[in-house]
Amino acid sequence: MCGKMNNQICDTTQLTLRTAGVHPELNSSSAMICLTEFEKNLVDYHEIFNIMTIIMKENNGMGIAGVQVGFNKRCFIMNFNNMLRIFVNPTIVNASQQCNEYIEGCLSIKGYVRKTNRPAEIELEYYDEYCIYNKKIFTGLEAICIQHELDHLDGKLINDY
Ligand SMILES: [Zn+2]
Repeated sequence: MCGKMNNQICDTTQLTLRTAGVHPELNSSSAMICLTEFEKNLVDYHEIFNIMTIIMKENNGMGIAGVQVGFNKRCFIMNFNNMLRIFVNPTIVNASQQCNEYIEGCLSIKGYVRKTNRPAEIELEYYDEYCIYNKKIFTGLEAICIQHELDHLDGKLINDY
């Protein structure tokens, strides 16, 4: 136990990696994060994001969604080329016709891989960890990872493809 006082947003001691077939929440949609509440509780949210990051790195993941640790809100983390990005309330506003095939794995389904076919380029609106609005185009593996994590926020796993 550390001395940190109670987190207002969720009980952080309950945040652990969730597994498909064991934790049905992985099959349900995550709720939008209220931005007013987010701005007021940045420290608490950052603690949650830190725990998500630790769990992602411990499991050699490239991304992790809140729901994968039992935090059923619309957020995910991506770690690409040692650049850590946090996405809150992400929405795809444009997607290319052209698609990329890729063999994906998932932290919540250990040892399972699945070939997916996703738009090669996406334009994403999201808020960062300081509640700053962003609109950015992603391509390549980043675009694939983001779409995988967005699926988690809608309760969809790679074995649903
Ligand atoms: Zn996954």
